[in-house]
Amino acid sequence: MLTIEPSKTLVEKVKQLHQQINQYNHQYYVLDQPSVPDAEYDRLMRELLEIEQANPALKTLDSPSQKVGGQPLKAFSQVTHQVSMLSLDNVFSNDEWQAFVKRIQDRLASDQTLVICAEPKLDGLAVSLRYEQGVLVQAATRGDGRTGENITENIRTIKSIPLKLTGKRGTDYPDVMEVRGEVFMPKASFEQLNVTAKKKGEKAFANPRNAAAGSLRQLDSKITAKRNLDFYAYGLGFVGDLHSKEMLESEQVFLKSSHYQRLCQVKALGLPMCPEVRLLDSPQQVQDFYQDILNKRDELSYEIDGTVLKVDDISLQERLGFVARAPRWAIAYKFPAQEELTQVEDVEFQVGRTGAITPVARLKPVFVGGVTVSNATLHNQDEIERLGLRVGDTVVIRRAGDVIPQIVSVVLEKRGDNTTDVLFPDTCPICDSKVAKAEGEAVLRCTAGLFCQAQRKEAIKHFSSRKAHDIDGLGDKLVEQLVDENLINTPADLFKLTEIDISTMERMGSKSAKNLITSLERAKHTTLAKFIYGLGIREVGEATAANLANHFCTLSAMQDANFETLQKVDDVGAIVAKNITAFFKEEHNLAVVSTLDSIMTWPDIVIKSAGELPLAEQTFVLTGTLSQMGRSEAKSALQSLGAKVSGSVSAKTHFLVAGEKAGSKLTKAQDLGVSVLTEDELVSLLAKYN
Ligand code: NAD
Repeated sequence: MLTIEPSKTLVEKVKQLHQQINQYNHQYYVLDQPSVPDAEYDRLMRELLEIEQANPALKTLDSPSQKVGGQPLKAFSQVTHQVSMLSLDNVFSNDEWQAFVKRIQDRLASDQTLVICAEPKLDGLAVSLRYEQGVLVQAATRGDGRTGENITENIRTIKSIPLKLTGKRGTDYPDVMEVRGEVFMPKASFEQLNVTAKKKGEKAFANPRNAAAGSLRQLDSKITAKRNLDFYAYGLGFVGDLHSKEMLESEQVFLKSSHYQRLCQVKALGLPMCPEVRLLDSPQQVQDFYQDILNKRDELSYEIDGTVLKVDDISLQERLGFVARAPRWAIAYKFPAQEELTQVEDVEFQVGRTGAITPVARLKPVFVGGVTVSNATLHNQDEIERLGLRVGDTVVIRRAGDVIPQIVSVVLEKRGDNTTDVLFPDTCPICDSKVAKAEGEAVLRCTAGLFCQAQRKEAIKHFSSRKAHDIDGLGDKLVEQLVDENLINTPADLFKLTEIDISTMERMGSKSAKNLITSLERAKHTTLAKFIYGLGIREVGEATAANLANHFCTLSAMQDANFETLQKVDDVGAIVAKNITAFFKEEHNLAVVSTLDSIMTWPDIVIKSAGELPLAEQTFVLTGTLSQMGRSEAKSALQSLGAKVSGSVSAKTHFLVAGEKAGSKLTKAQDLGVSVLTEDELVSLLAKYN
C-alpha cells in the first residue's frame, strides 16, 4: 500500500499546535486562569483534529486530541477513577449534529430515530461523588480522566450535595455508587466574588467556570465554603453490586435502562438534577430544545455554554462505547461564542454630556455574541491600567446577552513589537479646553461645561430624551445639526426655533418641522421631577429627581438648598449634593434654568410629610422586565408615593414586583412569603393614587 509521508511543514504545524494547546490546557485546567477564549482553543483543537483525520500517521498517543483535561495538582492526594471520566466532543451547528446522529445510526446499523436525553451544558467542572452504604466518602475532580484530585473536604461544604443519601441501603441504592455531575458557581456569586476581588486588588476570575474550579481546588476548605458553589448530577460512574439479596428482593429496579430515568432515580436519592433536562424523541424537538435553552441562557441563574445531547437508551450507549477522550453516545452542541479574540486598532476619546472623556477602543471587527463588534468602551484610565492595555494589543472581547461589549483581558503572549501606550489628551478633543480629574474620581473631564460643543449637544439630547421631556421628532442627528449651525446652544434655545429654522435642516420638510414645533409646545407642560431630571445634573437620575421634587416642592426651594439640606433628601448623598450645588453655582446654568422656568410649567406639588404619603413605610423590590413602564420609571413612581425601593429581597420586603423573566429574586420572595405583584397589579396600584 502506498503511504504518503506528511510534509515537513505539516509535522511542524502539528508540533506547534501540540505546544500551544498544551500550554492553554495548563493555564485552564491547572491554573484555572485561561489567557484566550474557548473559541480560540476550540479552533486550534479542530485544526489539529482535521490534520490528524487527513494524516493518521500524525495522530500520536501524546496528542492533546487523545487526552482529557490536565494533570491533577500534586498538592491534593490522588484518586484513581474506577470508571474513567471522559470529556465530550463538540458540534456547533445543526448540520454537524445531524452528521453525528448519522454516524451513530451507521454504527448501530439502524436508521431508527434516537431518543435523546437533552441537558444544558453546565459551565463548571466535573466531579465524581462516591457514596458507600449511602454515605459520601470521597469526592474527586476529573483530572486527566483516570486520576483526579481528592477534594472530599471541599465538596462537603456544598450545601446541595447530600452527605447521606435518602432512602434505604440495599433497596434504594447499592452499597457503592458514584454519582457524576458538575460543580458550578451561580452567576450572582461569581459577580459578587469578582467585585470583592477587585476591591481587594486581587485578580478576578475570567468566568464562573474558572471561579468554580479555583474555589473547589483549594487546600483550605473554609475558602471553598465561602464561595457558594452548587451542583447538578448528570450521570453515574462506578456502581457496586446490584445483585445483593436486598436488591434482588426489592420491588425497585435500581439503574433503569434509560439515562433520563437514572437521573430521576439519582434525584430521588437527594442529589440535585438540573430542572431543564428533557427527554426528546424527534430531530425537531432537539432543535427546539437547543433554541429554547439558548433563549433562556441569560435568565438562568447559572452559566451554560451549550447543550449536551445523550443517547438515552443505556444498552445503545454500551454498544456505542467510547473513543480516546469522549463517549460516542453523547455530544456537546455548543452555543456561539460569547468571547472572541480581536485587535485594538486605536483608542479614541469621546466627550459626554457631563464632560466626561471616555476612551473607546476601535477594534478590528469581530463576530461575537451574535453581532459584529467594532468598538468597546474602556470607561476610564483606571480600567486601561487594570487591563494593562496598549494600542495594537490582542484582546479578549466579550458580549453576552444585551450587555455592551467589554474588553475582558489583554493576551500578553500575542503582544507584538509595534504596540503603543494609550495617551490621554491634555485638552478636550472637541473644544480644546483644559481637562481635569476631580479628587477621588477616575474620570477625566472637559472643564468647559456648556461652552464645549460636545457637552451642549449631549445636554440637549438628554433634555429631549424620552424619560425627560420626550420631544418627538428631535433625533440625535438633528440636535447635532442644529448645534453645528449655531441655531441652538442650550436646551432653552429649542423653544426659540421656528418652523423655517427647522425645515432648512437636512432631511427636514415642512411637515416634520411642524410636528417638531407641536412636540416642543407639548413639552412646555411638564412635571417638576422631569424638569429637574432634564437639567442633566450629574448623577441626578429619574428617581433622585422625583425625590428632590417631592422634598422641595418648588424649583426655587431646591435651588436655594445648601449642601447639608440637600442631603436630607432620600437617595442624596454627599457626591450628589455636591454635584447639585456645583450645577447651580455656574452662571450659564442659572441663565438656562431661569429661561426654561419662564417657558415651562408644571403642576404644584402639595406638601405632604413623608409619613402622609400613601406608600410610606412600604418596601418594594423590582425584578424582571417591566414592559409597560420600565424599571426606573416604576421606581420613581413608587418613591414619589413614599415607598422605599430596594435592590434585594429580604424578610423586610413588603412587595416584589415581578416582570417578565423574573429569576432568583422571585424564588427568594416566594420562599420568604413576600407578596408578589405582577406589572399590571403595579400599574393599577399606581393609578389608584395618581
Ligand atoms: P467540555 O467542557 O467541552 O465537555 C466535557 C465536560 O462538560 C464534562 O467533563 C463536564 O464537566 C461538562 N458537562 C457540563 N454539563 C454536562 C452534562 N449535562 N453532561 C455531561 N457533561 C457535562 O470538555 P472539557 O474537556 O472539560 O474542556 C474542553 C473545553 O474547555 C474546550 O472545548 C474549551 O472550550 C475549554 N478549554 C478552554 C481553554 C482555554 O484556554 N480557553 C483551555 C482548555 C479547555
